Amino acid sequence: MWVYLNGSYIKAEDAKISPLDRSATFGDGIYEVIPSYDQKLFLFEEHFERLKSSLYKTFISSPQELEDLENILKLLHKKNLHKNQSFYIQVSRGVQAVRSHAADKDLQSSLFITSQELEPNPYKSQPNLKGLTTRLEEDIRWQRCDIKTTALIGNILSSHNPTLNPVDEVIFHKDGLINEGSKSNLFMVKEGIVFTPPLSNKILPGVTRQYLLDKLLSEGIDVLEQDIDIQELYSADEVWLTSSTKEVQPIHSIDDFILPSKDPKESIWHRALDFF
Ligand code: PMP
Repeated sequence: MWVYLNGSYIKAEDAKISPLDRSATFGDGIYEVIPSYDQKLFLFEEHFERLKSSLYKTFISSPQELEDLENILKLLHKKNLHKNQSFYIQVSRGVQAVRSHAADKDLQSSLFITSQELEPNPYKSQPNLKGLTTRLEEDIRWQRCDIKTTALIGNILSSHNPTLNPVDEVIFHKDGLINEGSKSNLFMVKEGIVFTPPLSNKILPGVTRQYLLDKLLSEGIDVLEQDIDIQELYSADEVWLTSSTKEVQPIHSIDDFILPSKDPKESIWHRALDFF
C-alpha cells in the first residue's frame, strides 16, 4: 500500500512519523475521510471545505501541499489500484522536539494520507439484510464535536468496554436528546417526514448528512433539522445512519428494542441509497 507523507509517495511500511508528533502525544491534529467510486472522488469540494474549516477552528496552519490535495489523491488512487477507495487525510500540528502543551511558534504542520479499499454498502445489493445493531450511550465527548479531530477516544471508549455487548454503532445522547453515532450522523423517519438533529457543537457536520438533506428536499420529501428526543426514536418508522464510507444504513435495534420491520422498497432509507 502506498501512502503520502509530507511531500513523498512511499510504501506504508517505509512511512515514519516521530513519536513526538503532536497528533500522537496530544491528539493534536485533524483529519478527513473522502470516498472515491470508479476512480472519481465523491463530494471532494465539500470534504475539502470541512478540512479547511477543521484547520481554521484548531489554529493549525495549512500545509502548503494541501492546495494540491485533489491531484495527490488522484495519484494515490492510481498507485493503490482498488476501484473504490476511501482516503484518510491527517494534518498534525507538527513534531515538537520537547513535549510541551504549548506548541513551538515555528512548528511545521505535517500531512499524512493513506487510502484503503472502500467496501461496497451491503444494503445496496441486499436491502433485506438485517439492519445495524446499536446501543444508546450518554455522550461523554468534548463540547466541540463539530471539529473532525484525531482525538477520538471519547468516540471509541465504550466500544472497548469488555463488559458491554459489541454492537455495530453506538448512538450518543445528552440531556434527553440524540446527538449522533460514534462514527455517523443519525436520521429518523416518522409519518413520511425525515428528521435529523440540527448542526451544533454537539455533532459533526457530516458531508453525507448535508448531501442527503439536499437530495431528499429536491425529491420533494419533507425534511426537518430538529432535536430528536430519545423517546421519539422508539416510535420512529425508520432510523438510519449516514457516513462517507457507509452511505446510508438502516438500524435494526437500539439496545433491546427492535425497530418496526418495513419493506425496504417502501422505505425512505432505501430511496436515499439511490443517491450514491
Ligand atoms: N459523525 C461522526 C462522529 C463521524 O465520525 C462521522 C464519520 N466521519 C460522521 C458523523 C459522518 O460524517 P461524513 O458523512 O462526513 O462521513
